[in-house]
Amino acid sequence: MSSVAITEIGSLVTNDSTLGHGALGIRENAAIVIEDGKISWIGDSAKFPAVDAALSVAGKTVIPGFVDSHAHLVFAGDRSEEFAARMRGESYSAGGIKTTVAATRSASNEVLRENTSRLVAEMHRAGITTFESKSGYALDVENEARTLQIASEFTTETTFLGAHVVPTEFADGADEYVALVAGEMLTAAKPHAKWIDVFCDRGAFDVDQARTILSAGIAAGLQPRIHANQLANIGAVKLAVELDCASADHLSHLSDEDIDLLAGSNTVATLLPGAEFSTRSAYPDARRLFAAGVSVALATDCNPGSSFTTSMAFCMAVAVRDMGFSPEQALLAATSVGAKALRRTDIGGLSLGMKADFSVLNAPSYIHLSYRPGVDLIDSTWIDGKNVYQR
Ligand SMILES: [Zn+2]
Repeated sequence: MSSVAITEIGSLVTNDSTLGHGALGIRENAAIVIEDGKISWIGDSAKFPAVDAALSVAGKTVIPGFVDSHAHLVFAGDRSEEFAARMRGESYSAGGIKTTVAATRSASNEVLRENTSRLVAEMHRAGITTFESKSGYALDVENEARTLQIASEFTTETTFLGAHVVPTEFADGADEYVALVAGEMLTAAKPHAKWIDVFCDRGAFDVDQARTILSAGIAAGLQPRIHANQLANIGAVKLAVELDCASADHLSHLSDEDIDLLAGSNTVATLLPGAEFSTRSAYPDARRLFAAGVSVALATDCNPGSSFTTSMAFCMAVAVRDMGFSPEQALLAATSVGAKALRRTDIGGLSLGMKADFSVLNAPSYIHLSYRPGVDLIDSTWIDGKNVYQR
């Protein structure tokens, strides 16, 4: 087994306060050693042990790889015209998600794989080393299973989201669709999914429908997460905590009671700045969540309708500028708390024994990620100690 050292790291963010200063555990002039895909040594660059190969990144910053805990990557079609219409101020009701559903159902496996592969390459260029991907653009038994199978070729964090919206053919029978999702569709999806998710919101699925679907998923061995309170507060956070969802996502509308429930739970609050940005909606104030002690994650929500970005750095910059995050809170939210939202302890930081998933930044500190919005600072990205992207 070969060992590799990354040396002369100007600023190393470990997210381990026992390894460096502050909550981010920062060390200057550091080195790390990678063996068998994991971090096997961390210390002063002058003192790194004998290794098979060494790579100097003098003056640069190393951060844990971003953990994107909320994305929708397997789909076909293009919705740029819909975005343009929305930005022109036209109320755009036709099309929407149904455009994506029609295109996805009729796309071949090859086309879906190619589209997903392109987005995964974008994520690596953006410093994302772990990502979740949901189904929900097929909405029938065969194609939900097919799109999840394709997602599982790219990530272990796959999520069955048959309850994304009620498809047109069930317009007059939402409960019939709920029964299909919780029954035959779940059975077909289950072999390819780790998680189950429901869009529990005004105009999507109500709390009782969401409870039915998530409970069926839990009984089938999947773990729950939920789209909650993006458009309105219909009680989705209460359900998330009741079912011990790993994460409640969006949270644009939150009562004080919701915040207290989250603070006393193991459910991460995942905010998705790209969605508010791309739909010109009001941003939630994350300071209310931080003040109550809630675990807050950031994710891209990469999807063709409401947040077509793979840039975690962009999401962090918006979170800092418009949601009340400090740059430090934004980096933790995009790394270690993202890992918590996936209930993972092997990623999201660079402690000894963790996966060697990290990015090298062309910057003297991590603060540049939000200080220099829109500027691509990712120099290279590494997964399991292997270089998956080099500028
Ligand atoms: Zn989503």
